[in-house]
Amino acid sequence: MSMLARVRPDLATFRAYVSARSSGLDAPIRLNANESPWPGVNASGDCNRYPDPQPAALRTRLAALYGVGAAQLWMGRGSDEAIDLLLRAFCRARRDNIVTLAPTFGMYAIGARLQGAEYRELALDADAGFAFDPERLLALTDANTKLVIVCSPNNPTGTLYHNALEFLAGNLRGRALLVVDEAYIEFAGVPSAVGLIDRHDNVAVLRTLSKAHALAGARIGALIAHEDVAAFIGRIAAPYPLPAPCVTLALEALDPAALRAAGTRVAKLLYERERVALGLASLQCVVHVWPSRANFLLVRFTDGRAALERAMAAGIVVRDVSAQAGLDQCLRITIGTPEENDALLDALFKSRRSRSVASTPIVKRSRQTTDAVSPVGDAP
Ligand code: PMP
Repeated sequence: MSMLARVRPDLATFRAYVSARSSGLDAPIRLNANESPWPGVNASGDCNRYPDPQPAALRTRLAALYGVGAAQLWMGRGSDEAIDLLLRAFCRARRDNIVTLAPTFGMYAIGARLQGAEYRELALDADAGFAFDPERLLALTDANTKLVIVCSPNNPTGTLYHNALEFLAGNLRGRALLVVDEAYIEFAGVPSAVGLIDRHDNVAVLRTLSKAHALAGARIGALIAHEDVAAFIGRIAAPYPLPAPCVTLALEALDPAALRAAGTRVAKLLYERERVALGLASLQCVVHVWPSRANFLLVRFTDGRAALERAMAAGIVVRDVSAQAGLDQCLRITIGTPEENDALLDALFKSRRSRSVASTPIVKRSRQTTDAVSPVGDAP
C-alpha cells in the first residue's frame, strides 16, 4: 500500500496553490506575480522576483549528494519545515498519533501539538546508553499511528539507531511512515538510511545543510522519500519555501571544493569531539560523558546548574537539557573550534568542584585531525 493511502483523507484531493512561478507559464516580461519591476536598493541578483519553488540545479546537486533520485527529494526551510509538513500531511487532529523516543529533538512534540496529534514516546534509559528495544517502540503503535520518528544520531543523546531501522520499516509497512532524522549523520560515519527507501516505500529521511555543511543560517533542509510522498509534501508546502540568496549559498556549499572543505571540517570536529569527551571525563564535576556520533556531547554533571553558570561566566553558552526525561543534571555541549573547546574545559576545570589543581583536565591538541573517532556502542 502506498503511503499516500495514509495521508489525511480530507487532503486526498488537495490541490496545490498555483503560484506565478509554478504555473508553467513564463516569458521575458513578467507581469504575472505582482512583483516590483525594479530591483530594490539592497537586492542582489533577481531578488525583486519570486524564486523558483524547487530550483532544478539545487535539486540535482542535493540528489547527487544524497545518492537519490531528484523526484524523491523535496527541499524546504530546514528539516524543521519538513517535520511540520509531515505532521500536517498525515495526522488527523485528535485522532492520529506519532511515536518516537524520549529524550529526542523537541520539534517533533511541537509539530504534534500544533497539529493536534497525540505524541507517544518510548523512554530511553540513560544507564543503558539510551539503547532501545524496537519491539517496545512498535508496541506503542496502533491503527492511528501515522509517523514513527527516529532521530539517528539522536539529539540530545548522540546515540546512533541505524541498526534498528530496517526492522522497524518492515514492521510498519503499509501502516506508518518511518521518519529517520539524519541531521547529524555526517558525524556518524555510517551510510544514510536513504538506501532503505527502494525496499521500503514507508521510509522518509530528513537531511540538512545546517550542520556538516555549515549553513544553518540559510535554512536548507530536505525530505527524501518515495516520490509520491515527496510530491505530496511539495503540494501542501508554502509556494516559495527557498529564498533565492539561500539557494545561491547552498549551491556554493555543494561545489566540489566546498564539499572537500566540509569533509575536512567534519574530520576536525570528530577529533575534537573525542578530545573534549576525554577532557570532560577527567573533571571531578563530571559524572558521565555519553559516547556521541554527532557534533555534540551529552554530559551529566554533579551539579548541572553550577556547570552552566561556570561556563556562562567564561562567556560560553551550552544547552541545558536537564528538564528532559531522564536527563537530570545534564548539559548538551556542542563541539566548537579547538580554542572554544579549550575555553570550555578551562572554565569547568577552574570550577571549585573540579579535581585537585595538580590534575590536567585539558587533553592537549595534537596535529592529528583524522582517525580519532572511537567506536561507541550503537543501540540495537
Ligand atoms: N533535526 C534535528 C535532530 C535537529 O537537531 C535539528 C536542529 N537542531 C533539526 C532537525 C532542524 O534542522 P534544520 O536547521 O535543518 O531545520
